[in-house]
Order: sequence, then C-alpha cells, then structure tokens
Amino acid sequence: MHSYVIIGLGRFGAEAAVKLYSYGEEVMAIDINETLVDKIADRVTRAVAADARDADVLERLGVANFDRAIVAVGSDLAASALITMNLHSLKVPHIICKAHDATHREILQRLGADRVIIPEWEMADKLALGLTSAGIMEYIELSEEYGIVEMEPPEAWLGKSIRELDLRSRYGINVLALRHGESISIPPDISLPIDSGCTLTLLSNYSTLNKLQKQDAP
Ligand code: ATP
Repeated sequence: MHSYVIIGLGRFGAEAAVKLYSYGEEVMAIDINETLVDKIADRVTRAVAADARDADVLERLGVANFDRAIVAVGSDLAASALITMNLHSLKVPHIICKAHDATHREILQRLGADRVIIPEWEMADKLALGLTSAGIMEYIELSEEYGIVEMEPPEAWLGKSIRELDLRSRYGINVLALRHGESISIPPDISLPIDSGCTLTLLSNYSTLNKLQKQDAP
C-alpha cells in the first residue's frame, strides 16, 4: 500500500483520489474549495480544505510523510507551479503533475515534478493508436516508441506458434502473455499455435506493430 496526497479535486484529481482509495491506498485529498472537499470526504482517507500554495499549510498537513503526490491543478499555471515547488522543497519522494500543454510540462519538470501528464494528449494518442492499429485493446506507454500492448492476434499469425513466427528476432517483439478468457499463460507456451479467440500481451515498438498490421503478414 502507498500513501497519496492529491491536490486539486477537479474531474481528474477527484477521480484519481476515489479510485486510489477504492484500490486500498491511503489518500489525503486537498482542495481550496470546501464544497468539493465535503463531496469527496467519505470516499478518501482524509479530505482537507486548504490553499496548497502555502508551504506552511502543506508542512502542517504532513505531506512529506506521503509516498506520492498528485498535483491536479491544471488551469491555474501559477498555482500548479507553486504547489509543485512546495512539494519538492518538502521532499515528497514522487511528484506527479497534470499539465495543460508542453510549456506547462517543462515548467513543472524544472520545479521538481518526477512525472508530468497531459491527460488530453495521452487519451488522444491512445485513441489514435486504437483506431489505426486494428485489434489493439489496451496499452501502457513505456516511452514514445515502446509500450506494452494488449491485442487480438493479426490474421496472419493464426495457426502459427510464437516460435514459428520468430517475433523476437525478426521484429523485436516480446510476447509476455497469452490469455484465453480468464486463463492466462505467463510466459506463453511458444510452441502452441495461436488461435483467434486469444489475446496477446506484447512488448513492442508501436511502429513495428503498425507496419505488421498493415501488411497483415509477418
Ligand atoms: P479538471 O481536472 O476538472 O480538468 P483543471 O485541470 O481544469 O481541472 P482546475 O479546475 O483549475 O483544473 O483546478 C482543479 C482543482 O484545483 C479545483 O477544484 C480547484 O479548486 C483546485 N485548486 C486550485 N488552486 C488550488 C490551491 N491553491 N490549493 C488547493 N486547490 C486548488
């Protein structure tokens, strides 16, 4: 279990706070707006109405004892910068921030953010990848080029085994798991033929996958 302090209870911050708490994590949620704090109070460990731009307030709330902080104040750049800087000065071990654009992201990185996400961009990337790469159901981005992708097998892979397809040496694709409904093989048996009812979890370069799916014949 990790402990989280979440600052800013707009759509993003509130959703993250409630989800983390429902997964059994300890969550302290902070917003300057008391109505939002009251609304979330019974769905997190502790909810506090406070102005997080004030470093003394953050110190009194003990934010330095939390494992991770999420700064979900997106539209007020000055506030999100100041809050990030305060969390960094208080030595919060891992600071994740939400930003609106690339300039905002760079400012937050320079002020001590360990990870900055721009949710709209990430969702748009996911949507685009899902739309252009038939069969991709889910992915976790590891870098701009690489990710862990969950997908249906392309037509051309059906009936062939992972060994026969030789995905690793020919394309640099690592098959991490193979799922049939509830049953999952990790690692998969590379000698069995792939059938149409399964789902593959791959570690791959996105452009390789795109090319393979367009050709549809490895
Ligand atoms: P959303 O997640 O809804 O897209 P957003 O990115 O547009 O939000 P804002 O609405 O500007 O971001 O801010 C999110 C929340 O952060 C708001 O509920 C706001 O009250 C809170 N907030 C803003 N400034 C502070 C502050 N100094 N201290 C604590 N909370 C703050």
